[in-house]
Amino acid sequence: MAEETIFSKIIRKEIPADVVYQDDLVTAFRDINPRAPSHVLIIPNKLIPTTNDVEPEDELVMGRLFTVAKKIAQDEGIAEDGYRLIVNCNPHGGQEVYHIHMHLVGGRPLGPMLLS
Ligand code: AMP
Repeated sequence: MAEETIFSKIIRKEIPADVVYQDDLVTAFRDINPRAPSHVLIIPNKLIPTTNDVEPEDELVMGRLFTVAKKIAQDEGIAEDGYRLIVNCNPHGGQEVYHIHMHLVGGRPLGPMLLS
């Protein structure tokens, strides 16, 4: 069994977070340490630790991450200018919280993608 993270508490509203969207499959909230004017994390309500743990039965929820990212980008007013979606995996990917999450980052030119 995967261990719960602080994100499970955010989903259940047990700790405060700036939640911008929630439905039966996903929750989205503002990153506590924003790297750009818009920085929202979109996560499955189901605990999936990393992209290595995604199974075929998760395809619906993983697709929902993208449709919700599209909606939030529109709501934030950054869809037209553009933004970046990032999913980090494990230590080499820079993952800190082991509950899969999609970063939606935008609101300024982000430059080329960093590999360092
Ligand atoms: P990652 O490095 O991809 O695992 O990203 C984890 C992200 O979660 C970081 O950008 C953190 O700033 C963010 N984060 C950690 N704890 C919280 C929290 N309680 N509320 C909102 N964002 C958080």
